Amino acid sequence: MDLYLDRLLNLPNTTVESFTEEENKITLKLRFLQDEITCPHCNTHGGKLKQNRPILIRDLSVFGKIVYLNTPRRQFYCQHCQRHFTEKLPFVDWERRYTQRYEEYVYQRVQSAVWSRNKSR
Ligand SMILES: [Zn+2]
Repeated sequence: MDLYLDRLLNLPNTTVESFTEEENKITLKLRFLQDEITCPHCNTHGGKLKQNRPILIRDLSVFGKIVYLNTPRRQFYCQHCQRHFTEKLPFVDWERRYTQRYEEYVYQRVQSAVWSRNKSR
């Protein structure tokens, strides 16, 4: 949608299709640029897209607003080994509902809280 927004988002092969804004929350609807991916079972490239069930992923806040990514959750069928598989998201750990950079941020916040508590003893 918007090259600048995609650049700010800074996620591989991902574009922002649209966004909605509520009082203190921004939701970015994402689209992946690759239509074909590699099957994790047999490493053949070019699985067929079967379905997409988007999920909401928490990302870092911007401008004081909470950010959610409406992220495609794509399921593919591999014609080579005849198995289904779900696409792995490069910026989210498996079965998590937040981005790796959000997780990193929370971790650092906790670390610095522990650090300043120890210091004040
Ligand atoms: Zn396969």
